[in-house]
Amino acid sequence: VKKIAVLTSGGDSQGMNAAVRAVVRSGLFHGLEVFAVQRGYAGLINDDIRPMDLRSVGDIIQRGGTILQTARCKEFMTPEGQQIGADNLRKRGIDGLVVIGGDGSYQGANKLNKLGINTMGLPGTIDNDIPFTDFTIGFDTAVSIVVDAINKLRDTMSSHERSSVVEVMGRHCGEIALYAGLASGAETILVPEVPFDLTEVSQRMVDNFNLGKRHSIILVAEGVCKGEDIAAEITKNTGIEPRVTVLGHIQRGGAPTHNDRILASSLGDFAVRKLIEGESGKGCGIIKGELVLTDIDKVVNTKREFNMELYELAKRLSQ
Ligand code: ATP
Repeated sequence: VKKIAVLTSGGDSQGMNAAVRAVVRSGLFHGLEVFAVQRGYAGLINDDIRPMDLRSVGDIIQRGGTILQTARCKEFMTPEGQQIGADNLRKRGIDGLVVIGGDGSYQGANKLNKLGINTMGLPGTIDNDIPFTDFTIGFDTAVSIVVDAINKLRDTMSSHERSSVVEVMGRHCGEIALYAGLASGAETILVPEVPFDLTEVSQRMVDNFNLGKRHSIILVAEGVCKGEDIAAEITKNTGIEPRVTVLGHIQRGGAPTHNDRILASSLGDFAVRKLIEGESGKGCGIIKGELVLTDIDKVVNTKREFNMELYELAKRLSQ
């Protein structure tokens, strides 16, 4: 490849800018021409593509969001839309594309790959729901934000002997709830991957209060149900009225942690080097410290395995 492009797509996540910077600077370092596509696949269809230089990615490594913006683009779900996108790249001689996004964005990248554009996927999503990588770009920052919020809730809760239900992001994947729950000592972690009995959860809360616990935190991933519904059920079972906090989009904002910046930088550079070596149709990841490539086809057709070991650990330690 001689000319490559980079885009960000789907939900934004902290560290996407660091990944864009890495792709651009690594590409230029290796003598490639590098382009940026604005607003994900929408920009690909609308031909919103511009050349990048070293300075165009200056002062962004520390910023949340994405300077390339992102979009959800229905038209790109159609074969016609995908063809227009591929043609817009080809007419500029761009034969490599790095897509930074989640599962849906990977599906789009897979389609482009089948149309002859060499594509690489970088896992950019706070949810940590992409398989074949230990972590996705943005997850570490999102977990830190949840942990920080719980620290603050704990301060006020233990002064008032209160319980809290905290609803966090994760439609299909409970890893934010799991990691944040373990890191902040939540009493209960409710995730879509593990069935639970709310009567038992309620009883445990009562037992814990009787044993002298002054506060109790239930962390629920949004994919389970609304935090309000959990709280209502607990009130029905116990008479205790937990406070509900929905953290929402705050989890997607703010400066990326050093872990996310380093992950994004490593993966961005890796994607470019692999494109130069002739790889395509691959998702990039890091597993146990090793940079790895996996067929995008395989990535999009595999469900990420939930970390039951960590879940059990969180349970053991939250007595
Ligand atoms: P997040 O995990 O943050 O939601 P995502 O990448 O999964 O990110 P989606 O909205 O699912 O977000 O996908 C982003 C875009 O990718 C879509 O708007 C669409 O343009 C494209 N896309 C999704 N699925 C497909 C598909 N099956 N074929 C082609 N393009 C797709």
